[in-house]
Amino acid sequence: MAGGFERVVAGRAWVRGRFEPVEIGIDEEGRIGRIAKDLRATGDRLDLGDLVLLPAGTDLHAHFRDPGGPDPAESFSTGTEGAALGGVGTVVDMPNTQPMVNDRERWEAKAAMARGRLAVDVVLFGSAESTRSIRSLAPVAGGLKLYLSPTTSVDPGFDPTQLAPVLEMAANSGLPLSVHAEWPGSFPPPSIPPKSSEDWNRTRPPAAETEAVERLLKGPAWLRLHIAHVTLGRTAVRVAAAQVSCEATPHHLLLATKAEDSAFRKTNPPLRTEADRAELWAEFVAGRVPILASDHAPHHVNTKSQAFDKAPSGLPGIETTLPLFLDLARSGRVPLPVVVAAAIDRPARWLGLPVGRIAPGHRANLIAVDFRSRRRIEGAKLRSPAGWSPFEGKFAIFPQVHLRDGQPIVEGGEFVGRPTGRVVRPEYAPARAAHRPRPPPPQSV
Ligand SMILES: [Zn+2]
Repeated sequence: MAGGFERVVAGRAWVRGRFEPVEIGIDEEGRIGRIAKDLRATGDRLDLGDLVLLPAGTDLHAHFRDPGGPDPAESFSTGTEGAALGGVGTVVDMPNTQPMVNDRERWEAKAAMARGRLAVDVVLFGSAESTRSIRSLAPVAGGLKLYLSPTTSVDPGFDPTQLAPVLEMAANSGLPLSVHAEWPGSFPPPSIPPKSSEDWNRTRPPAAETEAVERLLKGPAWLRLHIAHVTLGRTAVRVAAAQVSCEATPHHLLLATKAEDSAFRKTNPPLRTEADRAELWAEFVAGRVPILASDHAPHHVNTKSQAFDKAPSGLPGIETTLPLFLDLARSGRVPLPVVVAAAIDRPARWLGLPVGRIAPGHRANLIAVDFRSRRRIEGAKLRSPAGWSPFEGKFAIFPQVHLRDGQPIVEGGEFVGRPTGRVVRPEYAPARAAHRPRPPPPQSV
């Protein structure tokens, strides 16, 4: 190319589904211009030697708890630096902050306080709790989140009579809708206070997920629906058949209930039995769970040290999700292409952002990894002030280098960036009849 590129990065890169030795030309806007064997740089040249290059990840599910609580264990600064260190270049932040982001004014206030404090890009979702909320948020929000049941900072839950109008309004807004799919009508009446993840699984049983998903699938066919944190392999199979997106979390894929444990295993939806976990894992390994997301819930170690029934639900994970799964790929437990698709490529596509692939026109958000360099996860050393990890002691492969728009924000595994992250919003086409992929299914009265 005449004149060369502002920056050239050379290394073995994940291009078209495999590693190839390439040179990546990056323009002054931080976009990938060309990928070739040999390119000329007008500015910097970065040779990554033995490291392998992957696109940075996209995490569709994080709670930075900023503004508000429930405890002061995270902020946009620490949360996005943790993302950067974990190889995540784009994060969806959920609206259940304090106050709940349920109208345009609150969304704009949150975006204003986030700007200037972000190490990576953030997509701010708004709450789809009512048709009024969706109407107000539609011009600004990066997407919508619906909680069908009470959870952290969502209490009381959703009015079930509003489900049909909310799904219709969300579909017509053109915004993607991620749903916490537990149907509270399927929870058994409260009995003794839960003392373990096994008790918690009985309190919020698998049937609640199945019921919620069936109700959601009755929504408009043109709704860009995504089921958050599925816990059952059969849920993944069911939603795939309906051409609906879903995600699984590392904890539902790797951890199961125990008769005796602590609130450090308390999360919503609950951890499931070993048999259910194994079934979800098998679907994931086979590539039938499209997306991996952390559901990063950074409750402080002291807050989680309370009795099981008093402690809040949720587990941290934004910094460890991709590194943990890169190590699982290294050891052959899951194919690397499955991990790349689930943590890097598909979440970016679902949002409609030009990241997640090493391809011309995509942003040069890249990570460089040494698959021989494993280290054990130590919760106290992670960037989040939460100070713990559900995967304490497990091996992980953290990126050595993370480039944002071609510029290093992590070098030698240390954060070296500045708060150059942006609040980004995909360009959504408003839903029009012509774009509806199929007519809505018949509604029973
Ligand atoms: Zn969540």
